[in-house]
Amino acid sequence: MNSPAVSSRIPHVGIAAIFPPPKNPGDSMSNTHATPTSYEISVGAACKRLGYGPTIESLLSLAALELKVEIPIVRDNGELAIFTGYRVQHQNVRGPCKGGLRYHPDVDIQEVRELAALMTMKTALVNIPLGGGKGGIACNPHEMSQRELEVLTRKFVKRIHREIGPNSDIMAPDVGTNAQTMGWIHSEYSAIYGHSPAAVTGKPLALGGSPGRNTATGHGIAIVVAEYARHHRMPLKGSTAVVQGFGNVGFHAAQALAALGIKVVAISDSRSAVYRDGGIDLAALSDQKHARGSLKDTEGHDSLEPDALFEIPCDFLVPAALGDAIHAGNVARLACRIIVEGANAPVTAEADLTLRERGIAVIPDILANAGGVIVSYFEWVQNLQRQVWALETVDAELERLLGNATREVLAHAAGADLDLRSAAFDIAVRRVKEALEATGL
Ligand code: NAD
Repeated sequence: MNSPAVSSRIPHVGIAAIFPPPKNPGDSMSNTHATPTSYEISVGAACKRLGYGPTIESLLSLAALELKVEIPIVRDNGELAIFTGYRVQHQNVRGPCKGGLRYHPDVDIQEVRELAALMTMKTALVNIPLGGGKGGIACNPHEMSQRELEVLTRKFVKRIHREIGPNSDIMAPDVGTNAQTMGWIHSEYSAIYGHSPAAVTGKPLALGGSPGRNTATGHGIAIVVAEYARHHRMPLKGSTAVVQGFGNVGFHAAQALAALGIKVVAISDSRSAVYRDGGIDLAALSDQKHARGSLKDTEGHDSLEPDALFEIPCDFLVPAALGDAIHAGNVARLACRIIVEGANAPVTAEADLTLRERGIAVIPDILANAGGVIVSYFEWVQNLQRQVWALETVDAELERLLGNATREVLAHAAGADLDLRSAAFDIAVRRVKEALEATGL
C-alpha cells in the first residue's frame, strides 16, 4: 500500500512569525539587507519553479545557528588586540555542517551567512551526506606572525568547541587559512575531546589529511570544464582561459586547465596581474611570488593592472579570489564566453542578469568549486573509518562524483531550458526539501 505523500506535512503558508522578531537589520538573514543576494534570488526562483511555496524558501533563508565570539590575543609587540570570529551553521538536515574558515579583514556576519547557505546547496548538489556551514575571523593574516595566528586559531576553537566536531560541524581551509590552520584546530579540539581527526578537514597529511585535498578545488574546476566542453562539443585544445587569484584555487585551477590543453594567458593576485600570449609559465610565476611577494615583473610576462584582467578576450574566465568580483561596474567590459566560478559568489545578482542578457554562460560556484568539499568529505570518511586512501582512489572518486553532478546539471538545464545556476539550484533545493520532509519537520 502506498503511504500518504510526505509533502503534505510541510505547510504551504510560509513562516507566520519568527520569535522573537529580529530587532535590527542583519539579525535574521531573511530580507534584511537592501538588495537580495544572488543566493536568495536563486533559492526563491527554484522554489517557485518547483512549486514549493514560501515555507521551504523561509527555511532555506534562515541559519540554524550563528555564533559570534570576541577573541583577545597579546600581539608580538605586547599590545592586546581583540578579533571578532563567526561560525554559522546553516542546515544540517542532510548531514553535519561543512564549510571553510576564512581569515580576511572584510569578514562579517552577513558574508559568513551567505557562504554557509551556499555550502548547504553545494553539498546537496554533489549529493554528499553533509550540510552547510562557514566561519571567519576578521583579521589580516598577512600582517600577523605565525605565533599570533596560532594563538588566534586555538582561542577561537576554545570559544566554539561545544558546537563543532565530526558529527556537528567540520571546518576546512578557505581564504587566508591553510593546512597549518586546520592542524592547529585539530590539535586544540583533540586536546579537549581526545584524538579527533574527523573534526576538521584540509589538515596536513601527517595529521590524517587526505591526499589530493590541497589540489581538489582547482582540479575539480578542470573536471567541470571538461564535462561542459564535452556536452557542448567544444574543443579545448587551443581555447584560452584567464584566472583571477593566485591562491589555492587559482593556482591549481590554472595548472589543471593547462593540463587539459587550455592556454591560460593571464592570472592575477590582489596587487598584480600578468599576461603572456603563448600561455603563462606557472612555475616561474610561483618562484617570483615566493621571492618577491608579487607576480609583477616576472620575466617573459607583461605586467597588467589587476582591473584590466577581465577585459582580456578569452573562452573561460575563472574568478578564483573573493566574492563580488564581477559587478555592475565591470560586467559590460567582460570579453569572455564562459565564466567558471572558482570563488564563492564572485558574481553579484545584478551582474548575473547582465551576463544572461549578454549570452555569457556561467558555471555556478556550487558546482564549479565543489571539488574541495568533495575531497573534504573523503577525508572525513577516511578519518572516521581509520583508513588511508591512495591518491588514485581520491582522484577517481572526485572525477566520478563531480562528473555525475555536472552531467546532471547540464542535462536539467538543457531539458528545462534553464541557465546552469538555475538548474543547479533546482537540483540542490529539491534534495534539501526532500530531506526536510523525511524528518517529518
Ligand atoms: P587563498 O587565500 O589561497 O587565495 C586567494 C587569492 O586571491 C590570493 O592569491 C589573493 O592574492 C587573491 N586576491 C585577493 N583579492 C584579489 C583581487 N582583488 N584580485 C585578484 N586576486 C585577489 O584562497 P582560496 O582558498 O584560493 O579561495 C579563493 C576562493 O575560492 C574563495 O572565494 C573561496 O571561498 C573559494 N573556495 C575555496 C576552496 C578551497 O578549497 N580553498 C573551495 C571552494 C571555494
